[in-house]
Amino acid sequence: MPSAAPTSPHVMNTYGRLPIALSHGQGCRVWDTAGKEYLDALGGIAVNTLGHNHAKLVPALQDQLTKIIHSCNYYHVPLQEQLAAKLVQLSGMSNVFFCNSGLEANEAALKLARKFGHDKGIAKPQVVVYEKAFHGRSIATLSATGNAKVQQGFEPLVEGFIRVPLNDIEALQQATQGRDDVVAVFFETIQGEGGINPMRAEYLQQVRKLCDERDWLMMIDEVQCGIGRTGKWFAHQWAGIKADVMPLAKGLGSGVPIGAVVAGEKAASIFAPGNHGTTFGGNPLAMRAGVETLRIMEEDKLLHNAAEMGSYLQEALKAGLAGTAGFKEVRGQGLMIGIELYKPCGALLAQAMERGLLLSVTAERVVRLLPPLIITQAEVDEIVAILVPLIREFLAAA
Ligand SMILES: *Cc1c(COP(=O)(O)O)cnc(C)c1O
Repeated sequence: MPSAAPTSPHVMNTYGRLPIALSHGQGCRVWDTAGKEYLDALGGIAVNTLGHNHAKLVPALQDQLTKIIHSCNYYHVPLQEQLAAKLVQLSGMSNVFFCNSGLEANEAALKLARKFGHDKGIAKPQVVVYEKAFHGRSIATLSATGNAKVQQGFEPLVEGFIRVPLNDIEALQQATQGRDDVVAVFFETIQGEGGINPMRAEYLQQVRKLCDERDWLMMIDEVQCGIGRTGKWFAHQWAGIKADVMPLAKGLGSGVPIGAVVAGEKAASIFAPGNHGTTFGGNPLAMRAGVETLRIMEEDKLLHNAAEMGSYLQEALKAGLAGTAGFKEVRGQGLMIGIELYKPCGALLAQAMERGLLLSVTAERVVRLLPPLIITQAEVDEIVAILVPLIREFLAAA
């Protein structure tokens, strides 16, 4: 570890930071300011889809910088149309609103749900949300989040949410029985911050049916699990269903801030001019990053790589950790992987870092891996070679 840890006296203290600063990267590798090299199994929290300094992405962004960075939504932005058309094609949905982050995409989804309700004459529309969910840190999205720590200190919360447990169709039916004020069901296909908790395909199909029968919007937060990470463009596509509203962000711009909410037919015409907007949303630089990210993903068959490398990594972790006391399970899909232990393991963050591996720990006991989708088999082997002994040693101690 570098002897003089960087400090930030002028940056607001909102994160528990590890004592390094990254200066540059190449592919799945990054280096800190002291010159130490790391294998990046976190990808900036599912953001760096194409890793670092990608040979196709960087020149495209340089080209865009010389043309125009920001125009303004007073005018048409052709790159918005280009990225929207691609997202519509990949999702089978209808149209797209662009913003700058995950919480913004979710905010837009919640506004869509409320207006959908008001248009039907529902004065106080209710949205079904889930235990352990994470949807962001604005007042509305933290209210939708199922984690008291995220909410504490920011009450009063926004009203209009009904909370249910995951994968329990009876609980959903009971919570909404006889109510005519429900307008939407809002969830992550695989909960990220909540600890890599997947919704079962059968449950998703049952919810889809209920949404059709009762005219609710099925709103699927794919901010973390979307954009190819699981081996499909969007994780809910594994269940063979379509969303009505789908917020996206993280991996869509390979590191350039971007958010999007994709709407299906049922939600495509809810907003009219004046209902929603954002200054930066849909700016040409972010749009170019999105267009090029999706193009390169197709060209380099990264969905296939995510599925292959994901299964390979999961199997290797399972084999390496099987029978270890204190190890619960490996779960997830593609390159969205959680390793649950029976004890809090936040300490593993710094220990992995010392051994040259960047990862995350979420929901206290879950080691989370979200590497770039370009990861190679040799790099996966390297993750396993560092992580398996580390977890075994961690569990053997105390
Ligand atoms: C990260 C995340 C968000 C919030 O995104 P920000 O860009 O940090 O606002 C929302 N939903 C999910 C599922 C996320 O993983």
